[in-house]
Amino acid sequence: MADPYDHENIFAKILRGEIPARKVYEDAHALAFHDINPQAPVHVLVIPKGPYVSLDDFLAEAPDELVTGFFRAVGKVTRELGLAESEGGTGFRALANAGGDAGQEVPHLHVHLFGGKPLGPMLA
Ligand code: 5GP
Repeated sequence: MADPYDHENIFAKILRGEIPARKVYEDAHALAFHDINPQAPVHVLVIPKGPYVSLDDFLAEAPDELVTGFFRAVGKVTRELGLAESEGGTGFRALANAGGDAGQEVPHLHVHLFGGKPLGPMLA
């Protein structure tokens, strides 16, 4: 079973405006900002506005409106950053670590968006 949500995690503090972040997009359901330690020319994190540890509890417990709104926001970010091929970009990778085996460090759901160069094959 997932740990209970920690309201003092770093992304909760970013959502509350207690810690700065380089924001790229925000709406009622989601916030997107640049990763502090980018692993690609574009490395943005998209987080839902709600107390969800990972994709696991988000998909099990979040209201449909938030699930839809969050993933729509992910799509908007890929287009607004010029990554999506549908908007003339060269593509991107979306990734969400969930739990210990995946190496999730921050216990607030975040989708990583990587782009800006050929990304190579996925690592297992
Ligand atoms: P995870 O391993 O949990 O999937 O990824 C956590 C990500 O959060 C890492 O890529 C890390 O660089 C990023 N990160 C950690 N702390 C901060 C922070 O304070 N600000 C920002 N913008 N990114 C952070």
